[in-house]
Amino acid sequence: CGIVGYVGSQPALDVVIEGLSRLEYRGYDSAGTAISADGKLTVTKRAGKLANLREALAGTVPPGGEEAGSAGRTDAGGSGERTETGVSGIGHTRWATHGPPNDRNAHPHTDCTGAVAVVHNGIIENFAALRLELERRGHELSSDTDTEAVAHLLEEEVAKGASLADAMRRVCLRLEGAFTLVAVYSGEPDLVVGARRNSPLVVGVGAGENFLASDVAAFIAHTRDAIELGQDQVVELRPSGVTVTGFDGRPAEVKEYHVDWDVSA
Ligand code: GLU
Repeated sequence: CGIVGYVGSQPALDVVIEGLSRLEYRGYDSAGTAISADGKLTVTKRAGKLANLREALAGTVPPGGEEAGSAGRTDAGGSGERTETGVSGIGHTRWATHGPPNDRNAHPHTDCTGAVAVVHNGIIENFAALRLELERRGHELSSDTDTEAVAHLLEEEVAKGASLADAMRRVCLRLEGAFTLVAVYSGEPDLVVGARRNSPLVVGVGAGENFLASDVAAFIAHTRDAIELGQDQVVELRPSGVTVTGFDGRPAEVKEYHVDWDVSA
């Protein structure tokens, strides 16, 4: 339903949660986040409202409500210790299509090793065949979703030595249906990779930081410079910049625009 991604020097989790709260108006049944830092991923997800996720993340994000993420913070340390460099994060609000709304089916989904986390809007139509194929190769799937297969397929590619972006391009060529996918990988902590087919994904271009969302409302408080991703494209988001290619790896033409309308989400 709603997707947010962030890479830069702000606390990634705060930016992601704030973005998700700006997408709450769309309606959802579960929410979750994944943060990539220090060579590992931290995934937290809960059925129900964002308040449940905030509770699960207790002490690591600013309090909810109107002020979410906007107050100037003086972090008192403790659980708030976060690495300043090489941190990225993704978040999701789910509107279940495959599998009931519960903690297990909430996004992000990870592979068996916990190296890759992915969030997804839409439907992977050939998920049943992909799940079967993965199970035959020894993967244990732990949710009922169409999405989880993507996490395991990405993991197989990075295990073979592919970068996350190459893995995403290869996996997307195998998917049928409508999807926006956004992933992080423990091996490349300063990177968020997104992909889309028949489902929206917008990049927010900042200075030394970049954003990704299903809707500009998620990042408009940070930047109004945006790039609309085209059909069958993959975007690589790093603090230093944004690269867009087709699923075939060929560089894509990027149209940057300025969001000059008022968004009061
Ligand atoms: N098909 C996925 C699921 O049911 C994604 C749903 C969504 O767009 O939120 O988990």
